Amino acid sequence: MPHHAPTSKTAEWRTRSLRHVWHPCTQMKRQASMPLLALSHGEGPWLVDMDGRRYLDGISSWWVNLFGHANARINAALNDQLARLPHAMLAGCTHAPAVELAERLSALTGAALDHCFYASDGASAVEIALKMSFHAWRNQGHPAKREFVCLRHGYHGETLGALGVTDVAVFRDAYGPLLRQAHVVASPDARAALPGEDADAVARRAAAELQTLLDARHAHIAAVIIEPLVQCAAGMAMHAPSYLRQVRELCDRYQAHLIADEIAVGCGRTGTFFASEQAGIWPDLLTLSKGITGGYLPLSLVLATDAIHATFYDDDVARGFLHSHSYTGNPLACRAALATLDIFEADDVLARNRRRAARLDAALAPLQAHHAVRHFRRTGMIWAFDVEAGPGFGQRYAAAALARGLLLRPIGHTVYLMPPYVLDNDTATWLARETLAALDDALEEH
Ligand SMILES: *Cc1c(COP(=O)(O)O)cnc(C)c1O
Repeated sequence: MPHHAPTSKTAEWRTRSLRHVWHPCTQMKRQASMPLLALSHGEGPWLVDMDGRRYLDGISSWWVNLFGHANARINAALNDQLARLPHAMLAGCTHAPAVELAERLSALTGAALDHCFYASDGASAVEIALKMSFHAWRNQGHPAKREFVCLRHGYHGETLGALGVTDVAVFRDAYGPLLRQAHVVASPDARAALPGEDADAVARRAAAELQTLLDARHAHIAAVIIEPLVQCAAGMAMHAPSYLRQVRELCDRYQAHLIADEIAVGCGRTGTFFASEQAGIWPDLLTLSKGITGGYLPLSLVLATDAIHATFYDDDVARGFLHSHSYTGNPLACRAALATLDIFEADDVLARNRRRAARLDAALAPLQAHHAVRHFRRTGMIWAFDVEAGPGFGQRYAAAALARGLLLRPIGHTVYLMPPYVLDNDTATWLARETLAALDDALEEH
């Protein structure tokens, strides 16, 4: 049942969409009995539907939007680029947006990762990182290193290679027969703490399991892929930075690449521009997407060390990395990313987010004290809590929030906030109040 009476326009677009658009991550039959937002436009953190109703985008449109919808500065950069060069291929050609973005990202890593390979979606960046790792070992005379290690409940995208290093049953199981399944080791999720343990102790236990595997299989293992600090799709499972240092050390000792998938956690989401910075480490390969264009255009990229790049640099064509996508390095997408990096610099976004986060923490105190809330947690600009409730809670919560003008999509019994970096005080107060009110609505309805 739609939770708001659909008026004419919303109802019409909803019907047309369900008839011809196959929606992502959706059982279409179930969608037929659920609310579907028919959007007209966006303004800052707000989305506006065809009938003029406003919804706060509490999850940044699947974690991509950093500086609001229809941001004037990103729009201006895109309009300028639109008039110059919307697209050209990047093989045999280059252009300022692709060069400048690669330079600036390299600088942000202190030149630790100074080669940038462009793609389009997050999953394609993961495919690239996996292929690069295997191929780099092969180029060095170690073709047996062809297995990957991922974490329990880890998520790296939905293409076949990415699903092979993904441990989320609902996405993976149907395609099990098609996959080359990676080794799955314990997650350092701090919620797994035994009595008397802290997050660092959980991290040590998880790292010990990884060490056992590497000890036995390192001759066959090409890379370990992780989501640094927050396993987002797992339900915002957060862990101690010490885990990253231990994995870095194990990867060095056992000669495996460390792939940091920062598609969701990069671009300031955890409080630093890259999540890896909080552990004082750099991976061998780092994937970035989602927020990098400010949530405007599909762009992903893989940052690689000079050591990896050097294994491909040769007179022999076959030793090169011949991978490509048609829209690799799209100038519009790179330009949106440059505008996004400009905003980070001009507005001192990371410092401002620390103040924003402290204010939202304070506003969320009553929610944290709620009798049904467990494991209230935050890393940077990600808030999450688990709710003790009956089956179907997530759907009830999403509908209750939507009826209050708040767009949230719980993962199972975990409710999370991942707002754009443009919340003012009043909006943050409103967000905290409605998040709590929707919780009471959803618990009452049951
Ligand atoms: C979203 C996500 C991906 C996949 O990105 P797409 O653009 O959806 O293909 C990969 N890894 C992580 C950690 C993600 O959160």
